[in-house]
Amino acid sequence: MLLTIHRGSKEIGGSCVELQSKQSRILIDFGLPLVDENMGRFDSRKVKGKSKKDLIKSGVLPDMEGLYEGEHPTVNAVLLSHPHQDHYGLLPFVHPDIPIYLSEGCKILIEVSHFFGQTDFKATNAKPVTVWKQFREGDFKIRPYLVDHSGFAALAFLIEAEGKKIFYSGDFRGHGRKSILFENMLKRPPKDISYLILEGSMFGRAKGQYQTEQEVEDRLVELFRDKEQLCFLACSSQNIDRLVSVFKACKRSNRIFVIDPYTASILHRLKRISPHIPQFDWGRNIRIFFVPNRCTDKMAENKSLFKFKSAKITYEQMRELRNRLVVKDACLTRKIFSKKKDLEKTTLIYSMWEGYLPDVKPFWDKNNVPVLKVHCSGHAYVEDLQEFVKAVTPKYIVPIHTFSPEKYSEHWGSCVKMVGDGETVEI
Ligand SMILES: [Zn+2]
Ligand SMILES: [Zn+2]
Repeated sequence: MLLTIHRGSKEIGGSCVELQSKQSRILIDFGLPLVDENMGRFDSRKVKGKSKKDLIKSGVLPDMEGLYEGEHPTVNAVLLSHPHQDHYGLLPFVHPDIPIYLSEGCKILIEVSHFFGQTDFKATNAKPVTVWKQFREGDFKIRPYLVDHSGFAALAFLIEAEGKKIFYSGDFRGHGRKSILFENMLKRPPKDISYLILEGSMFGRAKGQYQTEQEVEDRLVELFRDKEQLCFLACSSQNIDRLVSVFKACKRSNRIFVIDPYTASILHRLKRISPHIPQFDWGRNIRIFFVPNRCTDKMAENKSLFKFKSAKITYEQMRELRNRLVVKDACLTRKIFSKKKDLEKTTLIYSMWEGYLPDVKPFWDKNNVPVLKVHCSGHAYVEDLQEFVKAVTPKYIVPIHTFSPEKYSEHWGSCVKMVGDGETVEI
């Protein structure tokens, strides 16, 4: 079998791995890079409206015959680990006859993102898999594992062909709201793995002040109780674990979580597959501010906005209740508060990856709003990776999704097999 890493061997983002048996070819993840060649933030506008030929030339797309629209497809399928752009962002270029295997939750979030104009990938060729249940694609036997990650319904894959077993970890962690999945994997690890393709986002990164999703929730409760003032909270509307933590913290501190219609619609779409995710109609600790932005307009246009009317909170009501609110930060929401001079005695709780903070920090500074960081990583800490490797005992470990591939050998010595971007090795 041949293994090629098209991208991701020495960076976080843009993961793309190919496995080729005598008769079949599969690709795992096909993401947008997060960094450019100078390690600056990758500008996704570089991709918009560009042809496949241009993007192969600029090194954004791998030069792979039989993968793209307009070619005779020779790739059997793409396995998608989870709905983060750095794993699926290049899928719009894939030939529409090639099936994309993903989790049901992943499909829903991608559909939502497409509806709101955040991705060109329509997911028409998406084929939801049943987690834990093995399926076949060409020569390959594939078993999807559900893992704990900040991306919703994330999968790892156990892949077998030609007598070899490969485990692709995807992005995962052991300290989120579904840490039980990690513990179970340690108790019952995949066996006889020849190659473990292992993410290493946390190599070279500090752990941070709060280390588990539970610690984040508990710290939020403290802040919500202590601060007798309005709290804004910045987090991703697609980080469902975090939304659950914020909602629970609001309940524990008797605050009201004010979300926007976009966030409400994401939670609502996931209700069917996950009944424990908070919903707009779950009572007095959750309301919706109909912020007049593009997403709300889109929902008004297709008449889905109406459904959320019962949970609506107006600006005047927010003003009256301000010290009891946790307002989910959105660009226009914060601007409205600023314009009406209502940001005095306010705190911003920043609960997402630090890399995006410079985008919003000047606004809060200008309005004299202090910024408090309460966040934990979406990725496994180094000691959890070590425990995981100890449980799996693979023959070889291949670094992926890391800025520090050289650190792997400090822990696992000669077990580490470096495969560079664009390199093909026989396994
Ligand atoms: Zn990732
Ligand atoms: Zn991810």
